[in-house]
Amino acid sequence: METKLIDGSALAARTRAKLRERVRGLLARGCTPGLAVVIVGDDPASKTYVRNKVRACIETGLRSEHIELPASIPELELLARIAALNADPGVHGILVQLPLPKHVSGARVIQAIAPEKDVDGFHPANVGLLATGHPRFAPCTPAGVMLLLEDAGVNPWAKHAVILGASNIVGKPMALLLLAQGATVTLCNSKTPDLSLHTRMADIVVAAVGRPGLVRGEMLKPGAVLIDVGINRTAEGRLVGDVDTASVMGIASHVSPVPGGVGPMTVTMLLANTVLAAEASLGARG
Ligand code: NAD
Repeated sequence: METKLIDGSALAARTRAKLRERVRGLLARGCTPGLAVVIVGDDPASKTYVRNKVRACIETGLRSEHIELPASIPELELLARIAALNADPGVHGILVQLPLPKHVSGARVIQAIAPEKDVDGFHPANVGLLATGHPRFAPCTPAGVMLLLEDAGVNPWAKHAVILGASNIVGKPMALLLLAQGATVTLCNSKTPDLSLHTRMADIVVAAVGRPGLVRGEMLKPGAVLIDVGINRTAEGRLVGDVDTASVMGIASHVSPVPGGVGPMTVTMLLANTVLAAEASLGARG
């Protein structure tokens, strides 16, 4: 069987071109969609992610406000900064880059973001809307995976989807989105005794663990669709996912590469959610 590579970079470019059209529509109505990206501390990986997000905003015609705060910032001060962004009509989306320093409660910070500006989709109100089948902002990475599947012609309806990794950011919302599209979902985590017991029965496997080489060809049913969310850096500095790509070629029907698969779609969905938030703000204004 020929294994097709799912090209996330190409889909991201096409999706961003459509978003630029919507941004033009907003500009014509006097609204420049604005995203505030807050970064606390100087974690180098977080800085790279933030740089990519800010660049993508500018390229798509959004306004991006980049707020760098010291790792020592007291939690109350950070919450006050978020409250000011909530009140700023020029800011439609707020993203606080995770992880946060240990003395700051991630849960309190996420809950401080106004739900209608929570373009990451992590606020409990937005998680609840997603869980009850009425999503406002679907978290960016799983939302990007859904578009990748659609673009590859993979309909999750009545399929068995197995997700490896059950984080709030990727695995759990991934399960909810696939469930909403009619898939039967199995959500595995670090306590799952034998992953291959599940993956061998899967039509769709989403790997979101952060462990290179976790998924191998012999763990798959022939023809399975494989989405690699993992981002890992090898000792030589190479970027790899959770899938042992060489061993799945000829077994999987599709595989998304790392880099160039899910990553570009994650950033694209952040832009999409910000544009949606800006459009909704105009709707709310009437
Ligand atoms: P996380 O550390 O918060 O969660 C990892 C999950 O994997 C947990 O639920 C844990 O129980 C589970 N797990 C650990 N070992 C396991 C095992 N052996 N078998 C099955 N499950 C296991 O991580 P996260 O934030 O969900 O990210 C997961 C990976 O996806 C990381 O590599 C991260 O860098 C990557 N990621 C990529 C993107 C992207 O845009 N491509 C976005 C977010 C995260």
